[in-house]
Amino acid sequence: MRIIRYRYHDHVDWGVLMGDVVHALGGSPYEDAAPGPPLYPLDSVALLAPCQPTKIVAVGRNYAAHAAELGNVVPEEPIIFLKPPSAIIGPEQAIVWPAASARVDYEGELAAVIGRRCHASAPPEAMHAILGYTCGNDVTARDLQQRGGPWSRAKGYDTFCPLGPWIETDLDPADLRIVTRVAGQVRQDARTSLMVYSVGELISFISHIMTLEPGDVVLTGTPAGVGPLVVDATVEIEIEGLGLLRNPVVRAAARPPAS
Ligand code: ZN
Repeated sequence: MRIIRYRYHDHVDWGVLMGDVVHALGGSPYEDAAPGPPLYPLDSVALLAPCQPTKIVAVGRNYAAHAAELGNVVPEEPIIFLKPPSAIIGPEQAIVWPAASARVDYEGELAAVIGRRCHASAPPEAMHAILGYTCGNDVTARDLQQRGGPWSRAKGYDTFCPLGPWIETDLDPADLRIVTRVAGQVRQDARTSLMVYSVGELISFISHIMTLEPGDVVLTGTPAGVGPLVVDATVEIEIEGLGLLRNPVVRAAARPPAS
């Protein structure tokens, strides 16, 4: 099932996408979701980020080739960090390149969306807590990150967490192709089978630190090939079985002169 959040005029709601038709979502997306009656053609609604997490837990250096390209070793335990929910944008919304950074990178990632509260769970149990998957882009101001210190600034700017286009509930995450394109050119092309820690291992590890709530998002790390975005170009994250997340990149508006 493809669970969406959408806006139709002033109305924001959950829905289920069946072909090109938006159906009502019967029940809660986190409990007893089922497709309801057909409502609108897909092209008449705006897709929003498909969940509203209390937190986004992201994982660093979870693909060996990516760790190596930035001069890092594969960690002995997962490296985790938080991105703020205020960074979330949906499909087609603009990533805003902040004036303070000279290099803003894409990071295409498989995003797991939690469906049931998950606390101190073993990997098999952690897998059962997942509602489904979507595409994520862990946008990063690389120059600010490389100054050192916590990554909250480099990875926490507004618009630095595109998610979408929907949550696919029926998908095995073990071996999916993940492709990132900037201005139509392929920059990352890898498979999730190259993850150092599997989705179940990551969520289990995180759940022993912090309770994961329904709607929370785990970004599972980016494969090799990271590099800069381009202002006025679009970035696409496409994951096999999940569809395509596309966002334009714009430069932050210049500050008005001080009066
Ligand atoms: Zn990342």
